[in-house]
Amino acid sequence: MTEVIRHDLIILGSGLAGLRAAVEACRVSGGKISVGLVSKVQLMRAHSVCAEGGTAAVLRPEEGDSFELHAWDTVKGSDFLADQDVVHRFVRIMPEEILLLEHWGIPWSRDPDGRIAQRPFGGHSFPRATFAEDKTGFFEMQTLYDTLLKYDNWTGYSEWFATSILVEDGRFRGLTVIEMASGKFYVMEGKALIIATGGAGTLFGFTTYSQTVTGDGLALAYRAGIPLEDMEFLQFHPTGLIPSGILMTEACRGEGGYLLNNRGERFMANYAPERMELAPRDVVSRAMMTEIEQGRGFKGPRGLDYLHLDLRHLGRDRILERLPLIREVTLKFLGLDPIEEPIPVRPVAHYSMGGIETDIDGKTRVEGIWAAGEAAAVSLHGANRLGTNSTAECLAWGAISGKQAAEYVMHQGPAEKAPEELVRREYERVFGDLLRREGRENLYHLRQELRDTMVTAAGVFRTGDQLEEGLRRVREIRERFQFISIQDKGRAYNTNLIHALETENLIDVAEVLLAGALAREESRGAHARRDFPKRDDEKWLKHTLAFRTPEGPRLEYKPVVITTWKPVERTY
Ligand SMILES: Cc1cc2nc3c(=O)[nH]c(=O)nc-3n(C[C@H](O)[C@H](O)[C@H](O)COP(=O)(O)OP(=O)(O)OC[C@H]3O[C@@H](n4cnc5c(N)ncnc54)[C@H](O)[C@@H]3O)c2cc1C
Repeated sequence: MTEVIRHDLIILGSGLAGLRAAVEACRVSGGKISVGLVSKVQLMRAHSVCAEGGTAAVLRPEEGDSFELHAWDTVKGSDFLADQDVVHRFVRIMPEEILLLEHWGIPWSRDPDGRIAQRPFGGHSFPRATFAEDKTGFFEMQTLYDTLLKYDNWTGYSEWFATSILVEDGRFRGLTVIEMASGKFYVMEGKALIIATGGAGTLFGFTTYSQTVTGDGLALAYRAGIPLEDMEFLQFHPTGLIPSGILMTEACRGEGGYLLNNRGERFMANYAPERMELAPRDVVSRAMMTEIEQGRGFKGPRGLDYLHLDLRHLGRDRILERLPLIREVTLKFLGLDPIEEPIPVRPVAHYSMGGIETDIDGKTRVEGIWAAGEAAAVSLHGANRLGTNSTAECLAWGAISGKQAAEYVMHQGPAEKAPEELVRREYERVFGDLLRREGRENLYHLRQELRDTMVTAAGVFRTGDQLEEGLRRVREIRERFQFISIQDKGRAYNTNLIHALETENLIDVAEVLLAGALAREESRGAHARRDFPKRDDEKWLKHTLAFRTPEGPRLEYKPVVITTWKPVERTY
């Protein structure tokens, strides 16, 4: 029989969004509810520890920054697809989040006069990236975790893998979860759920993301009947290290670094003369790919031609003080010292603007389920996210969803039992079907093929033909997935089985991304169609919603919330 674990509130994911939600839920409930915090990796190994460059907030109004400016930068950066009510709310919340973290003990980097330091970032017209060296995510996670330890009404589940979200009659009923150490299958019953499972970065072969970021929460929500929104908008960060894809934070350019082509030119002068290297990421990535395609790049391994990120003129002291991680990484991975040599970089898959559809509070259309952080599409980033707005979003909507879900739970009666039929079916799917497969397809090759397909089909520039071919190949990969082989038939730490579950999730997310991208016949933000090179507000100023059907995603659309600024031409 399947064992049952009960909590009032379950938080799926312990990255910045999940931890911030947990702190808030514990805070507002005053110990009256029990919170379960679930992560497929050790709680403190969530991908968020990798965030480098900073977190956006208006801290210096006296020097010219303002909520309006931050909001305008975000809306313009989004290519006008962000919901403007969401953006206005976001910018007003952020200063308090920065100060809360300060009070909870984060070592923000400081200016010589002792104030919290802020540095420039792409697409922001004021230096408002708040940072802790170039290890911002690590320090934020550490601070939130330390704060959470003050409360005793939560339980952590490190290395527990969620396989499905149970929904009945439009309401949340529970999760099915595998305890990875033992391989035991559990039902977690609860009154509310916050999905904070992060993005889907490893859908692409060349990525900045941790290998654990496999879009699980997106696929689980999609299968539970919640639509995915705007998934075609996948951000390519301009500066991935060659050949690994490790992120060279935008803070390198925020601190004054240059991008150079093989003629030694700062080519951004031809694409974004005002903002140069600090134009938004979609603009810089397209410029870099154009330089490379037109022969002004350097020959790289495995077709990874590249350009140079030059920090030398910043000088040793500034690099050691502000970018120590970057130097450590280039020394360790390439034996290259950025104090003396330029760094080889090219655009790299980095961030999912889309995600689980929510309202402005992070609430999904299923009663009792919220989503927060990169997994959610609260519609803050639209078609292109500005750097430092993501860790900020995790804090803002972690706090909002944590508070709301806790208050919701406190007004509910006892949790109802999870539907036995759904639990039985899920057990059968995982252990009766998947674990028993002994087909001819190599699971690991199949995932690699999927990731290569996405690089070819849905890169910085896209065409209808490429997207169509990509969709065909992903559907073929789904067919072949039926014939995979799981060699490890055991239960304890069966990473072979987990790999299969993750791959199945990635396949669902890939199909949604490609279908949305193929349908959207325009270019907007990170979605650049060579066959439809212009933004088309008349037809496409709307959000894509993908609903799961047995035949594949069904697409619907919903309007963008425009409260303040009508779309205008986007120049930098
Ligand atoms: C290298 C890098 C640097 C970045 N730097 C910055 C920056 O400086 N500023 C900025 O604003 N943004 C930055 N970003 C983006 C930002 O880091 C992420 O968007 C953000 O950290 C995502 O946090 P999250 O809490 O939503 O998810 P994550 O931190 O990815 O956490 C996801 C959690 O969900 C859990 N989980 C997932 N699936 C399952 C499952 N099936 N079962 C159980 N648990 C599951 C995971 O174990 C994990 O605990 C960066 C991104 C990268 C790749």
